[in-house]
Amino acid sequence: MPSAYELTRDQLATYLAGEPGYRVDQIWEGLWRHDLEVADITTLPKSLRERFARDFAPTLEVANEVTSDRGATTKWVFRLHDGATIETVLMTYDDRVTVCISTQAGCAMGCSFCATGQAGFTRHLSVGEVLEQVFVAARAAAPRRLSNVVFMGMGEPLANFLVTCRVIECLHEYRGLSARHLTVSTVGVAPAIERLATRGLPLTLAVSLHAANNETRNELVPLNRRYPLERLQRACGFWLAETSRRLSFEWALIDGVNDTERAMDELAGYARPLHAHVNLIPLNPTPGYLVRGSTPQRVEHFRDGLIERGVNVTVRRTRGRSIDAACGQLAAVTNGKHTPVLLRSR
Ligand code: SAH
Ligand code: SF4
Repeated sequence: MPSAYELTRDQLATYLAGEPGYRVDQIWEGLWRHDLEVADITTLPKSLRERFARDFAPTLEVANEVTSDRGATTKWVFRLHDGATIETVLMTYDDRVTVCISTQAGCAMGCSFCATGQAGFTRHLSVGEVLEQVFVAARAAAPRRLSNVVFMGMGEPLANFLVTCRVIECLHEYRGLSARHLTVSTVGVAPAIERLATRGLPLTLAVSLHAANNETRNELVPLNRRYPLERLQRACGFWLAETSRRLSFEWALIDGVNDTERAMDELAGYARPLHAHVNLIPLNPTPGYLVRGSTPQRVEHFRDGLIERGVNVTVRRTRGRSIDAACGQLAAVTNGKHTPVLLRSR
């Protein structure tokens, strides 16, 4: 059964033909602006809600929900209609409420340090499956208003290209989120970055760089063999020229691997010409990658070294480590086999 979030407004109007015209607004506003499920729009007659429930069904079933950081971080494991599982993380801060969404069940990119990559690929998600993650989180965030959506959960958004584009369009047009509030993180699929640039969608692009020499990056991010740093740089340059939007590089700091003076020089040399902002993420532990994350002292030293080299840099605050909800720790899927979710919240 389709998701209500896959309907355009015109399609909804067609579906409601015969009902008073204002029903379209009631349902549309309820879904997109007030974060309601149609079953909970109490201004609708019961018969209409029942009809809707027969024709449209939520695509996500909660298989588990865990919170940490004193309630400020919530991770859901959702089961999909075919049994595949995905994860979504809601993070509330003083100044914003962010949801981190998945675009695929698993991921085919195989980055060595990432739990999703270690588990392999199951399938692409549909538009409804991606959008519903946003609205489950928005409901849970109430009375705070969900303000930011980051495509940094399971999967590679640009490998599920058309779905990612449509989700951004919907969140912008129907929900009113702008480029500052929509961030897509990509492992660096160079031709897809260029395709995305020409679409004129309102979004901020974050590229997961992690190494600025091909030898190290080949080890960390296997896709680098296909689109090496020189090719990626061209795509990033094209992105800047087409969109005039700030680009950011993500860099998971790994002890002795990419937190050295040499790495600082290489990264600064790569980021500066692109005027890229660097976001440092202390590496989060995953079962399949034994090298540790950099110590807090080395993270600080690396940040300072980049500042000295004229690079704009921030350190990402880690959220949800105790419930395996932090960057790179999402692994509800192992090639279709479901791993039990460990309840390790405090
Ligand atoms: N596939 C996309 C988006 C999902 S991953 C991408 O790779 O960009 C979201 C971010 O988490 C990426 O920057 C990724 O490199 C980072 N990440 C993956 N594993 C991590 C880990 N173990 N510790 C810290 N960050 C990690
Ligand atoms: Fe996939 Fe991103 Fe993880 Fe790499 S870091 S395996 S691209 S989810």
